[in-house]
Amino acid sequence: MRILITGGAGFLGSHLSQRLLNEGHEVICMDNFFTGRKRNILPLLQNPHFELMRHDVTDPFKVEVDQIYNLACPASPVHYQYNAIKTIKTSVMGAINCLGLAKRLGARVFQASTSEVYGDPSVHPQPEGYWGHVNPIGIRSCYDEGKRCAETLFMDYHRQNGVDIRIVRIFNTYGPNMCPDDGRVVSNFIVQALQGKDITVYGEGQQTRSFCYCDDLIEGFIRLMNQDQTTGPINIGNPGEFTILELAEKVIQMTGSSSKIVHEPLPSDDPKQRQPDITEARKLLGWEPTVSLDQGLKPTIAYFDRLLSEEA
Ligand code: NAD
Ligand code: UDP
Repeated sequence: MRILITGGAGFLGSHLSQRLLNEGHEVICMDNFFTGRKRNILPLLQNPHFELMRHDVTDPFKVEVDQIYNLACPASPVHYQYNAIKTIKTSVMGAINCLGLAKRLGARVFQASTSEVYGDPSVHPQPEGYWGHVNPIGIRSCYDEGKRCAETLFMDYHRQNGVDIRIVRIFNTYGPNMCPDDGRVVSNFIVQALQGKDITVYGEGQQTRSFCYCDDLIEGFIRLMNQDQTTGPINIGNPGEFTILELAEKVIQMTGSSSKIVHEPLPSDDPKQRQPDITEARKLLGWEPTVSLDQGLKPTIAYFDRLLSEEA
């Protein structure tokens, strides 16, 4: 198949591109390089089945493809809050452009949604049926509400126009090719530990997240995209739940760093807990994560170590 990936030069897009090329598909990678990096796709540029398109997903586009994965959107709070209006435009107009193209082509289209649609959840762990607890006017809203609106658009194009959709709700995912300065917790802590700087825990560090390794997540993407039982939304994430303080201690121990933990103010609307209920993914996709946090942190630390020495 020929497959379009928007946001293909980002962290997850680069892993998905590699996986689809390995399976013998042609990949068109579209990216405006806001948070994506050429370095992530450098090994792919020599592949004749890989094509790079510098384009903004908010501007209309025409390509002939069999499948579309819509991943374009900054994912870290620092980056998505940098230009909040652009973030919501990317989610909403990006979804409309992908859905319009899918409708014209009869192509299957996949939306990278997020656990952020659950906001600061009052139900724990979060099943797909939970409608969420999202502040519509806070500093995270440009991302959360943009993604919620994109899900609405996907469902309405499906109901109204019969567009063949798949929606995944991604829970915190980490691994090689993350941007070192994107402000997400795993990249921040590892970079700080490797550089011997203070580890910045926001608040008391008692808030929790559940961390999924990128290879597990991409396997979930492929399974969801290539089955006919469900359109989703479906949660993909690792139910292993850790406090942010536990993560900081783990990173210090695994890097052998002398860094000290310092506490900084907790940003507003920061969700207190997050854990995916993956009953549906287990049942419908036969999917579950296979990589523990300890196992996944090893290659991630090795990647940042290489990156920092290259950039030194
Ligand atoms: P990322 O920032 O590394 O990748 C996003 C990519 O989209 C980048 O390459 C960026 O340059 C590109 N992009 C941004 N705006 C664009 C635009 N207007 N036009 C074209 N390209 C644009 O983040 P990621 O972690 O790889 O996330 C990929 C997708 O998965 C995002 O949609 C994100 O919301 C979603 N997601 C990720 C996580 C996670 O933990 N990694 C969790 C939930 C959801
Ligand atoms: N966090 C932290 N220190 C950092 C970066 C993040 O304590 O240097 C916390 C943040 O407040 C949040 C959690 O780690 O509670 C996860 O943050 P991230 O930005 O990775 O993702 P999200 O909040 O979107 O899940």
